[in-house]
Amino acid sequence: MLPRGMNRGFLTEEEKANRPKVTLPLLKRIFSYLAPYWKQMAIVLVCIAASSVLSLLPSVLTGRIIDEGLIGRDMQMLVILIAASLGVTLGANLIRVAESYLNNWIAQHITFDMRNNMYRHLQQMPQSFFTSSNQGDIITRMTSDISGVERVVTSTFTSILSNTITLVSAVIIMFRENWILALVGALVIPLFTIPTRWAGKTRWTLTRDAQECNDEINGILNETLSVSGQLLVKLFNKEDYEYDRYKDANHNMIRLRIRESMAGRWFMVIINTFSSVGPMLIYLAGGILMMRYNSDLTVGDISVLVALLGKMYGPVNSLLNIQVEWIRSMALFTRIFEYFDMPVEIKNAEDAVLPENKASGTVEFKNVNFSYDGMGKILENISFTLESGKSVAIVGPSGSGKSTMVNLIPRLYDVNSGSVEFDGVDVRDLDLGYLRSNIGIVSQETYLFNGTIRENLLYAKPDATDQELAEACRKANIADFICSQEKGIDTMVGNRGLKLSGGEKQRISIARALLKDPALLIFDEATSALDSISEHKIQEAMEPIIKSRTSIIIAHRLSTILAADEILVVKDGRIVERGAHADLVKKGGVYTELYETQFRGALEAA
Ligand code: ADP
Repeated sequence: MLPRGMNRGFLTEEEKANRPKVTLPLLKRIFSYLAPYWKQMAIVLVCIAASSVLSLLPSVLTGRIIDEGLIGRDMQMLVILIAASLGVTLGANLIRVAESYLNNWIAQHITFDMRNNMYRHLQQMPQSFFTSSNQGDIITRMTSDISGVERVVTSTFTSILSNTITLVSAVIIMFRENWILALVGALVIPLFTIPTRWAGKTRWTLTRDAQECNDEINGILNETLSVSGQLLVKLFNKEDYEYDRYKDANHNMIRLRIRESMAGRWFMVIINTFSSVGPMLIYLAGGILMMRYNSDLTVGDISVLVALLGKMYGPVNSLLNIQVEWIRSMALFTRIFEYFDMPVEIKNAEDAVLPENKASGTVEFKNVNFSYDGMGKILENISFTLESGKSVAIVGPSGSGKSTMVNLIPRLYDVNSGSVEFDGVDVRDLDLGYLRSNIGIVSQETYLFNGTIRENLLYAKPDATDQELAEACRKANIADFICSQEKGIDTMVGNRGLKLSGGEKQRISIARALLKDPALLIFDEATSALDSISEHKIQEAMEPIIKSRTSIIIAHRLSTILAADEILVVKDGRIVERGAHADLVKKGGVYTELYETQFRGALEAA
């Protein structure tokens, strides 16, 4: 077996290519996270120094045990020295326990701060961040990257410190004992560190190659031993071809595996030999000094030097790997800070308006232009007014920009030019909390979290009374369904509401939006076909709501469209027609076409 951490001692090509730039501001920023814990860190530092030095003491005492106790034949001294040596070891270990407790405490607190700050920051990211980033990436940064920081604090920093202190103290003691033997020891160290790294690297490369080969084999198996893969192989007579491919990859694999285990063997031979060469050289040099040059060196002194040499192997090896760990740690911090540096695009204006009275729900779009990426125009010159208590239906082919339009009202995105006003104030000047609390949205993708119906409803208004809940459910036409359930409103909805039908989910989310009692209700009607009973129930719920509330409906069904006061027809990001149903049908334009192809058919089917 290789010593622990051997394989981690080298950078992958990818890590080499993305080597982070370590700058003073980066270091300052890292230390700004450590700064609040400087007192604890100071204690840790003292503990590390004390335990590192103490752990060397038994080696020094060994010299006196031999010289004064054994050779000097002093029983009392022998016992005292042995007890002191054991006591020092115990003390060093106890200090290590305290140090590791404090260290973990600091690491946990730093990552606690980082996690919370990051979560808060991500919550403020614009919606476009969540639509364009890979969700796995976000989770990785929140979890394993931040846990990496924990490791850096508990292991990398500590290991740099304790190994440096151990090494420096060992060197000082060795030179104080005898500088000639200390020099011999210093010459011996490269003898075992160089082969260690060399063997480690060879083995690491072989392990990586074996991993790649293993992936290739798995790929072949997955491709060819699946139902459709086998069908393809059989129909194209590729059995022999695939067999050869598999055999070659397998052959390659055994070659790598044998080389890998032999690299381990050679490595052990080299390490064992070199680690015995060190002490032998010191014995030899010590012997020569004692016998040929009449040095006053004692047997004990030589034993001290041999023992100290043994204590240096570990720290030297670790410090050689430190550069790699250091680069990895810096890369980790750089990645985390990258997320922290993403600007919060949609936030409260400094002097945001916070009206005192309840909003009336009027909406006005004034020459709104919008694009998601700043290039491809999604909305062009959109203007319309929705007065309080009125309703507008937005219709148009899929992808024409209907959802984008309504997303601008609660500021999920901000306009590029023009403005969206809510209650006569530009939404960018309104208090964001106020704006969003006055808008209720029932989206196409109804999102219910895993809990009871009650819990899902209370998300909109945590202090709602049972009566309010019942009223919202009645208006959303879901009360009957809830009553028919054994557990009523405390029925579990399942993961993402999977235990409910599409229609039931929609009606619950209507009830949830109504419970908020918003000044403006936005309803994105589902395009996917619901069964006609569900459809009818939703219609029954929606019609009175549309008539009584300020509402915007992205409509796909004639009945909803007919209930609205005005219809806006959107195509390719522009409002191409507007007005009442009867006039629009006669026009012979986009609306007439939609009517002929979609609404009328749906109407007849119902
Ligand atoms: P509709 O609601 O009318 O079906 P959308 O408003 O959803 O249309 O989409 C309008 C256009 O904007 C489409 O071309 C769509 O591809 C694009 N789009 C929608 N959402 C995003 C997004 N988050 N990022 C980039 N482009 C988007």
